[in-house]
Parts: sequence; C-alpha cells; structure tokens
Amino acid sequence: MNTDPDCIFCKIVAGEIPSFKLYEDDETFAFMDINPVNPGHALVVHRAHHRDLFEIPAADVAIATRAAQRVAKAVQATLEPAGMNLLQCNGPAAKQSVPHFHMHVIPRHMGDGLTMNWDLVQGDMDEIGALAGKIRASL
Ligand code: AMP
Ligand code: ZN
Repeated sequence: MNTDPDCIFCKIVAGEIPSFKLYEDDETFAFMDINPVNPGHALVVHRAHHRDLFEIPAADVAIATRAAQRVAKAVQATLEPAGMNLLQCNGPAAKQSVPHFHMHVIPRHMGDGLTMNWDLVQGDMDEIGALAGKIRASL
C-alpha cells in the first residue's frame, strides 16, 4: 500500500504519532480532528497515501466514503446535532492543508456561523478525547 514517510496522516495511520482513534479496518482509519470547527469533528482517511480526489483511485474513494458514513452515523447518534456536513478539500484555494485524501465529518448546529474556510483553533484535548470515547461506543 502506498505510504509517504513525511505525511502526518500516514504517521497517524501507522501509529507513529498519537490520535484520538475512532475506528480502523484493513483499509480505513478514522480519528478526531484536533482543531474541531464544532465538537465531534472527525476525519476519515483511506490508509493508502493519495494526495487528493484527483489522485486517489475511485474504489478507494468509495471505501473511504463508506467508512465516513459509518463514523457520521456514530457522531449523529452521540451528539444528535441538527445537521452534518461531509467535506473533502482539494488544493490550496479549497484550504487543503494535509495532502492525504481525507473526509471531514462535521456536526452542524443552527446558526453556528461556520463558513467554508475556517481558521485552525486548537481544541480542548480532554473534551476531544471524551467525545472520541462516546463516538467509539457507537461504532
Ligand atoms: P484540510 O484542510 O481539509 O486538509 O484538513 C486537514 C485537517 O487535519 C484540519 O482540520 C486539521 O485540524 C487536521 N489535523 C492536522 N493535524 C492533525 C492531527 N495531528 N490530528 C488530528 N487532526 C489533525
Ligand atoms: Zn499520507
């Protein structure tokens, strides 16, 4: 499987750097975003390193999307937000900051003011870890 030793998400998948893991199987890995735009913000990746939507094989998109649906259902069951966005960014103008194809699972609330391009603000690690535990229980 294709990996990049310099890629932060490849390192997370390999367990070389820590993450609040939600789910993993032979092909996918899901974990909490440590700069959550809303509580419960999670990321889902295919284990294989592909830069973006334009490089990843279609079959791997399908596999990652299936895992994202599973994680989104667990986030929904845990937090019961009024809405949910799945977001996937490609390239600098779309604010892709990590060049390893990934899907954002983002709980939404009425009037949460979330715009498409947000600034990274580090979250509370205790709160993120606690939510990870609750969401894992729904997987
Ligand atoms: P994007 O802008 O679509 O490339 O999103 C990358 C996301 O990865 C951002 O929302 C970051 O907060 C998140 N991120 C970066 N490093 C880490 C990390 N070590 N653990 C969890 N999330 C991360
Ligand atoms: Zn990677």
